[in-house]
Amino acid sequence: MATGTAVVKEVTGIYQPGSAHMVGDGFPVRNLFPSNDLDREVSPFLMLDYAGPHYFEPTDHPRGVGEHPHRGFETVTIIYRGIVAHRDSAGNAGVIGPGDVQWMTAASGVVHEEMHEKNWAKSGGTLHAIQLWVNLPRAQKMSAPRYQTILNADIPKVELEGGAGRLRLIAGTAQGQKGPAHTVTPIELYDLELVAGRRVELNLPDGHNTSIFVVQGLVSANGSRDAGEAELFVCRRNGSLVTIEAKSDSRILLMSGEPIDEPIARYGPFVMNTKAELVQAVNDYQAGKMGHLS
Ligand code: MN
Repeated sequence: MATGTAVVKEVTGIYQPGSAHMVGDGFPVRNLFPSNDLDREVSPFLMLDYAGPHYFEPTDHPRGVGEHPHRGFETVTIIYRGIVAHRDSAGNAGVIGPGDVQWMTAASGVVHEEMHEKNWAKSGGTLHAIQLWVNLPRAQKMSAPRYQTILNADIPKVELEGGAGRLRLIAGTAQGQKGPAHTVTPIELYDLELVAGRRVELNLPDGHNTSIFVVQGLVSANGSRDAGEAELFVCRRNGSLVTIEAKSDSRILLMSGEPIDEPIARYGPFVMNTKAELVQAVNDYQAGKMGHLS
């Protein structure tokens, strides 16, 4: 397809993980943001934790992160390897494995746990996953919690032109198809597997913040230098065209969305617009208003 005069979304930076730490005792993560101070450039996305790849020995005591709250945003978990079990105080529960995505809208508040699935933990294995936090606009931060389990089978696989690979369409649209995730604000989330030596041209909405995380392989974006595993390309808001060239067989996660240009106030698992709202969140959690796991 001719791109005509489409404006390129220029790459403004390539970032490495800014911190590495353990979440609970089951998720060894490298953080790309907020540790790289990219709030404005990646909005509506608030956080990207890259977990593993990390091998866990067999155990009868599943690791993970126990009961904890969230308010004011969504957590999106994408599994490449391993199996994770979730349950929350809104009564939702689910198990996600390779290719699956969990999209949890904490909104006004939930308490949940994220654990290695019992039988998977028993046999041991490699965990490889991403957790994104997606912001909610002020008007939606106190809406009712919601939960979507998006199985691999329900995610459209779009074949790319010229044998460049395939695009798993988690959210938004691509090449006339629509992803299964229900998002609060306009978002595109693509899991791309690219073939060495090929390139793909993607057309994204002008004005959306777009970033590209390398899960595996070596790629360049819009003629930039090559970037490898755990590196993040950040693109300019204006423009629509992103050309990604795979230097080896590669897997990338493309995140794009309409920016939410509102103040961000964070305190641990709460992301609101003001400090007073954070104090309220802590008080509400301590008073049991976000519920408990049964
Ligand atoms: Mn959580």
